[in-house]
Amino acid sequence: MLRLIDINKTYPGAVPLHVLKDINLHVETGELVSIMGASGSGKSTLLNILGILDTYDTGEYYLDGTLVKNLSENEAADLRNRKIGFVFQSFNLINYKDALENVALPLFYQGVSRKKRNILAMEQLEKMGLADRAHHLPGELSGGQKQRVAIARSLITRPALILADEPTGALDSRTSKEVMEVFRTLNTVDGMTIVIVTHDPGVGEQTNRVIRIVDGQIQ
Ligand code: ADP
Ligand code: MG
Repeated sequence: MLRLIDINKTYPGAVPLHVLKDINLHVETGELVSIMGASGSGKSTLLNILGILDTYDTGEYYLDGTLVKNLSENEAADLRNRKIGFVFQSFNLINYKDALENVALPLFYQGVSRKKRNILAMEQLEKMGLADRAHHLPGELSGGQKQRVAIARSLITRPALILADEPTGALDSRTSKEVMEVFRTLNTVDGMTIVIVTHDPGVGEQTNRVIRIVDGQIQ
């Protein structure tokens, strides 16, 4: 599903920062993996490259067989929207839209009719055990519920891959376990390929493979 070959990235500046160093990484379809490392080790940079949210300097990145390199912004957005669902630490929900509207939003951008969007969004909310929260605003939901809404939103376009950046970073340990349980079920029952970036060993333990990154290098 994912193959990185000798990926390097440097942030330019008065003192350039060589943040990813010869990264080689291979994630198979159906894997549940974590990328673990300390703060500042380059995890988010790596995930942003995997998610085609950022570019790399040298090397090759293949996503589901497609070389992700020198893409125009439109090509990158198209590939991203078709292949990838994102989950973030801070949920990134729209505060004035209810749970159902938040989950349905990616389909709005795909031009799906309101009726169909709402049916599909409700299905995803039901799957997350949140049907009764559909018409609540994010501010009326707990942290764990917000993250489950965000996971429902990430799934609505039927992506091949879920990328999550510190998805439990804003949650207490009990709620973290619940959210990790959701990812585990998506992986074991639906066969979703999931890559989770985290600095939390407790999260890493709940994945099937831990990839360690130290100072921009895979260990
Ligand atoms: P992590 O997610 O593991 O905490 P990041 O990938 O966010 O690490 O950051 C790795 C290093 O790159 C850090 O030293 C950070 O300060 C630096 N960095 C991140 N983004 C940028 C940027 N846009 N410009 C310059 N430096 C950056
Ligand atoms: Mg980070």
